[in-house]
Amino acid sequence: MIPSAFDYVKPSSVTDAVSALAAAGEDAKIMAGGQSLLPIMRLRLGNPSTVIDLGGIAELRGVRDEGDAIVIGAMTTHADVLKDPLIAEHAKLIQQATKTVADPAVRHRGTFGGALAHADPAGDLPAVAVALQAEFVLVGRNGSRTVPASGFFVDYLETAMSDDEVLTEIRIPKYTGWGSSYEKFNRVAQAWAMVGVAALVRTENGSISEARIGLTNMGPTPIRAVAVEQGLTGVSGADAVASAAARAGEGASPSSDLNAQADYRRHLATVLTKRAVLAAIGG
Ligand SMILES: Cc1cc2nc3c(=O)[nH]c(=O)nc-3n(C[C@H](O)[C@H](O)[C@H](O)COP(=O)(O)OP(=O)(O)OC[C@H]3O[C@@H](n4cnc5c(N)ncnc54)[C@H](O)[C@@H]3O)c2cc1C
Repeated sequence: MIPSAFDYVKPSSVTDAVSALAAAGEDAKIMAGGQSLLPIMRLRLGNPSTVIDLGGIAELRGVRDEGDAIVIGAMTTHADVLKDPLIAEHAKLIQQATKTVADPAVRHRGTFGGALAHADPAGDLPAVAVALQAEFVLVGRNGSRTVPASGFFVDYLETAMSDDEVLTEIRIPKYTGWGSSYEKFNRVAQAWAMVGVAALVRTENGSISEARIGLTNMGPTPIRAVAVEQGLTGVSGADAVASAAARAGEGASPSSDLNAQADYRRHLATVLTKRAVLAAIGG
């Protein structure tokens, strides 16, 4: 289908993008790679009066080192994330999950910031951001503010961003030396996750000293599996990991749909958590 008519603006700076948002009013929509927005517009599930394309803002692309954190520009594409050496060294979990996102064409256009701003609970990167305790830098008419991942994802496809704000960058604390893995269960290759598990573990003398677990598609927002994280602390061996992973469904509220019933999603979460943690310990 053809989208409804809309005005198109392509600013070349964040300041201009914020001004364009303010001028266009609440029916305006930001476009990053357009990989989620354009299908929504074609189906006429969204009819923005103005589309503000961030594609001309060079300052929103790339990754930099800021001491104890790396900072990823919101417009950095999935393809560039996969090649980035800083992400490989300090937050490999992002690359492990990004590899499973869609196909090369979508990864070429789609962006790290767009995937997070879209806040689809079936998207692979929100759970990763939650596990990594990322911080979101938002710039609006009233200046800049930073929101932790724990407060960013508010509800289904809803974030803490106001209508007049642009997500400019995402700060990721460094997890140098931690093991990580992303396990995703889908019906066919290159499809959305029925359930996904992002695992991050630090080991000391053969035992897990710290763990962070993020769950994809186990509720309207990505969540941390806190009970599992607590259960993993101080343990070693596959049996102990399995008993901690058995608590992956605690606090989750998965939906039932054509792909899976809620009970099956809970089962998947325990199986994938065990796999992800064991893989993370191994590498
Ligand atoms: C065929 C197909 C398969 C896919 N499979 C997967 C998959 O398996 N796993 C997965 O995780 N994703 C999947 N995706 C989605 C993909 O990850 C997209 O890259 C992602 O949705 C973000 O797209 P984008 O960067 O193009 O953002 P857009 O589509 O341009 O924007 C998405 C939303 O975020 C808002 N937005 C974007 N950037 C900003 C910003 N900087 N500040 C404020 N708001 C912003 C927009 O207004 C819009 O509401 C798939 C997409 C397609 C088309």
